[in-house]
Amino acid sequence: MPRSVLLLFGPSGSGKGTYSKLIEKKYGMKHLSVGDILRSEVKTGTPLGLQAKTIMEKGGLVADQLIIDMVRSRVQQPDCSAGYILDGFPRTLGQAGAFQSLVEEYGDHFLAVLHLKVVDEMIVKRLAGRLQCTNCGMSFHVEENPPKDVQKCDRCGEQLFHRDDDKEGAIRRRLEVYHRQTEPLVSYYTGQGMLEEICNVGDIDDVFARICSLIDRRQEGLRRS
Ligand code: AMP
Repeated sequence: MPRSVLLLFGPSGSGKGTYSKLIEKKYGMKHLSVGDILRSEVKTGTPLGLQAKTIMEKGGLVADQLIIDMVRSRVQQPDCSAGYILDGFPRTLGQAGAFQSLVEEYGDHFLAVLHLKVVDEMIVKRLAGRLQCTNCGMSFHVEENPPKDVQKCDRCGEQLFHRDDDKEGAIRRRLEVYHRQTEPLVSYYTGQGMLEEICNVGDIDDVFARICSLIDRRQEGLRRS
């Protein structure tokens, strides 16, 4: 059976990780965060991690070919057999072209690109106060969604940390890179009829309900075609 594939699109801090996890739980598609995979490569000091480290700290983008090879090999793992959600990929037109070839090669069902829209100042506020779990990747916010213990993850009990690239200078640099290199993908995917816009403001349950109805509608459309 063809695998279902979703892309979660938007700047860091737009909620891609949060909603990817909820979608994974409800629909069974594997959540793949390219940023999390890269951070674990950096932590273990692999050749890819060594190349990515400084670029990531400065808020730039890791070279397309390294990312494309990494995604290509990751989506072949057995845990992606029911489908997968890519969070943070593609981020350039080059990556989008490579992703299209990959979907065609594997005969996957590309469902949609979910574009999470949040204004820049809200992103800065969210990321500057973000705490992330070293183990399960769960995110918290010091004011809006505080963990019970500022050191520990409510979900798995492991250590929380504030990312080096979640400091204001790096956040603004990432936003600038996003607008310049990643935002052109909005018109690319609009042209393909794949883009679904989601205004990510308000209650998490409401936003997730809107996301689910979009996914259900896309899945229904595929079943009929
Ligand atoms: P994220 O966790 O999605 O905010 O990603 C953290 C950092 O990883 C980014 O600021 C980039 O340096 C790098 N990164 C993540 N995804 C990609 C990608 N698709 N292409 C290039 N670099 C990426």
